[in-house]
Amino acid sequence: AAKEKGRNTYEFFSKRLEEKNERKAWIGTQLRKAIEFNEFELHFQPKHNVQSKVILGVEALIRWQHPEMGIISPDQFIPVAEETRLILPIGEWVLRTACKQAKQWSNQGHSLVISVNVSVQQFLQEDFVTRVQYALAESGLSPEFLNLEITESLPMFDFDTVIVKLNQIKSLGVTISLDDFGTGYSSLSYLSEIPFDYVKIDKSFVKHIHTHSVHSSIIQSVISIAHTLNRKVVAEGVECEETLHFLQESGCDEVQGFYLHPPLTSVQMEKLLQLGRYS
Ligand code: C2E
Ligand code: MG
Ligand code: MG
Ligand code: MG
Repeated sequence: AAKEKGRNTYEFFSKRLEEKNERKAWIGTQLRKAIEFNEFELHFQPKHNVQSKVILGVEALIRWQHPEMGIISPDQFIPVAEETRLILPIGEWVLRTACKQAKQWSNQGHSLVISVNVSVQQFLQEDFVTRVQYALAESGLSPEFLNLEITESLPMFDFDTVIVKLNQIKSLGVTISLDDFGTGYSSLSYLSEIPFDYVKIDKSFVKHIHTHSVHSSIIQSVISIAHTLNRKVVAEGVECEETLHFLQESGCDEVQGFYLHPPLTSVQMEKLLQLGRYS
């Protein structure tokens, strides 16, 4: 019976694996079409000063409006796009579109920092810095209004090359955020060597502040270390007043989350900006 069970388990998993691979292949094919037919859109989630709640910037978040399947979330397709390298044209589109949008808002009198998520593949392109420069030049956006969010896993690849590239980006005047902080393997020595401006505490920590006291202690420690290193802290995934209050008390710098605003379409964002830059 044990053998039987083992075989069933094996079949179950290999079937699951097959389905998973089919799903990936399907997404890959569909992604190629999506690029060609412009099925992507950017949404924007405000980032607020933790005390005043003034909107300082927005994070650009990609949305895929599939003609039959409706909205497909980035968590579903970004990994496939990474694997197939389709992330390169997609990421390029995000960067250029985000810069143009920020410039447009700036022309309307709203100077917001726009944060763009940069995937590992994209960052590792040899000419990535030139591409950033191009997006700035093309849009006319001032570099200090562009922020790039890189993930914590990035520096693992080739530490020295990554540091050189980050310094080149910073010398353009563009700022860097370390995204998904707390989910990877960053050591404290990494933290001091990576030239980032902001650390973004992952929502998986922020979410459990009230139920896991160890998470609130970790957040307070991260804030303290970041401040010692002269870096700012952004907490993402703020879903309630209690969490916001905790972050205010803890000296966090910026917050982002459904409690303040979910990701908004550009039209919704414009309406919000017209009301004034408060939550
Ligand atoms: P991320 O960069 O860490 O983005 C934060 C995610 O948290 C977003 O999910 C956002 O909608 C969500 N979020 C914001 N506030 C809350 C909250 O209060 N509660 C909860 N539960 N979630 C909140 P989204 O838009 O689904 O994006 C997921 C991930 O996909 C992003 O994580 C990022 O890694 C990736 N992604 C999104 N857009 C892009 C892009 O243009 N390029 C690349 N390379 N990756 C992207
Ligand atoms: Mg991000
Ligand atoms: Mg994040
Ligand atoms: Mg994340």
